[in-house]
Amino acid sequence: MSECIFCKIVARTIPAVLVYEDDMVVAFDDVNPQAPTHTLVIPRKHVASIAELQDSDVGLLGRLMLAGNTIAKQKGIADAGYRFVVNTGAHGGQSVFHLHLHVLGGRHLAWPPG
Ligand code: AMP
Repeated sequence: MSECIFCKIVARTIPAVLVYEDDMVVAFDDVNPQAPTHTLVIPRKHVASIAELQDSDVGLLGRLMLAGNTIAKQKGIADAGYRFVVNTGAHGGQSVFHLHLHVLGGRHLAWPPG
């Protein structure tokens, strides 16, 4: 997906503040943070949204979530609590069509979301 901005971050052809990476996922700080900690965890492979995942991606989904936990510990927000968000499709508010897990924390997060 040569035009996908997150694929370009994986390929390091555009810059990002990388905070974690392994063989399946890459994580970087959101360029427009909505909380003191706002990091995105993405699969290295292009998957447009969580709705596109297949049964064979169950390991990838687990890795995304576990990487989110690692980042929460790394960022010092694990004890206070944090939130994972996966916006999906138009009504879900998705704006970048490469699956990403938002890791948000560092302040009290309201519920319900907007
Ligand atoms: P979503 O609206 O759930 O699709 O989230 C996309 C997120 O990607 C937004 O929070 C953007 O601020 C973030 N974003 C877009 N481009 C970049 C970039 N180049 N580096 C870091 N974050 C980005």
